[in-house]
Amino acid sequence: MKPHTILLIEDNEQNRYLATFLLEQHGFKVVAAPDGPQGIETATQLRPDLILLDIQLPTMDGYAVARALRQIQPLREIPIVAVTSYAMVGDREKCLAAGCSGYIEKPINPDTFVAEIGKFLPPPASQGAP
Ligand code: MN
Repeated sequence: MKPHTILLIEDNEQNRYLATFLLEQHGFKVVAAPDGPQGIETATQLRPDLILLDIQLPTMDGYAVARALRQIQPLREIPIVAVTSYAMVGDREKCLAAGCSGYIEKPINPDTFVAEIGKFLPPPASQGAP
């Protein structure tokens, strides 16, 4: 079975390392980008199965990245999961309004992180079924 490819857009190296480690441990292929513009370019070329999007990014925040991704026709259906340390009321709504499919809070919990992301992916059984 072809592994799911996840694009991780995250500027913090330690967060990138942890998320990549956890996802690869569960059989995902991970491609990382350190900022929004590079993430958008990689998404366009790669067409990942899911995009994990940090909200606090330099130059272009995650909301702007999500809006830009949703403007790119072939990427419109790809699940985008926002990762944010903002604990403010209304943030979840802001993520969803920008085009994200869901939301995970930082710091990520290594015990539940992969399962939370898995909820946004199609079940493996539905892949390649006749
Ligand atoms: Mn960040």
